[in-house]
Amino acid sequence: MKYALVTGGSRGIGKAVCKKLASDGFYVLVNYRSNEKEAQDTLNSIKEDGGDGELIQFNVSDKEQVSSVLGKWIEENPDKHIEVLVNNAGITKDNLMVFMTDEEWESVVMTNQFGFYNVTKQLLQNMIVKKNGRIINIVSLSGQKGQPGQVNYAATKGAIIAATKSLAQEVGKKKVTVNAVAPGFIKTDMTEKMDEAQLKPLIPLNRFGKPEEVAEVVSFLASGKASYITGEVISVNGGMYS
Ligand code: NDP
Repeated sequence: MKYALVTGGSRGIGKAVCKKLASDGFYVLVNYRSNEKEAQDTLNSIKEDGGDGELIQFNVSDKEQVSSVLGKWIEENPDKHIEVLVNNAGITKDNLMVFMTDEEWESVVMTNQFGFYNVTKQLLQNMIVKKNGRIINIVSLSGQKGQPGQVNYAATKGAIIAATKSLAQEVGKKKVTVNAVAPGFIKTDMTEKMDEAQLKPLIPLNRFGKPEEVAEVVSFLASGKASYITGEVISVNGGMYS
């Protein structure tokens, strides 16, 4: 059995990634922060499709909680190796910089940036020792080109792009690959207040993307087919930016 952990697997892109990895044969640890109902829905649909997995609740921004919950899972399951980590959990708190509150800055940095650090730290050593690991970070178009109203969010996603490239160079010799997937506008709760009709003229493919279209790329990066790809950022943005 191959094991994968997806942070923020209860909704949106993370939910689609959980389902796809399960259909690829992974036992999926579905992480969520607070929405147990949606997390359970992800797990149910994995099982309905003949896959398997379990829920694992922790707040990625809380180092102690990640360490006690995920650390405990690792300790209690020494024979199980989590070879795929998808750092997907993320939030936005958009505001123009001039009006931005400390809370809007700090909570986005704590979730999107410290979350990557807290979770990856737990799994990295085993991946290195086993010489088998795939780390896939969900970043964003905003972290590539910048976006007004998202200085906090873009800063975190840009940081994770740099971390992806750096970590890839650190662990490549240990057969651990580290890549990022950068979605554009994808239809999820995060974008539900956005007006697709107004924004789609900016998108060459003339529509928002679907979570499943991001999950396909994650699945590829997690597979043997991507064995010689590391340190890359793959855009899934309908042609908005390259
Ligand atoms: P959603 O808002 O639909 O879902 C967010 C998910 O992350 C939920 O499962 C949520 O859990 C979880 N989550 C949030 N904070 C935490 C936390 N502190 N600890 C653990 N889990 C947490 O987001 P999307 O699916 O749209 O986004 C997923 C990723 O894709 C994010 O990193 C986002 O930045 C990125 N992205 C999204 C784009 C889009 O257009 N949608 C575009 C570019 C990038 P719970 O349900 O418990 O709250």
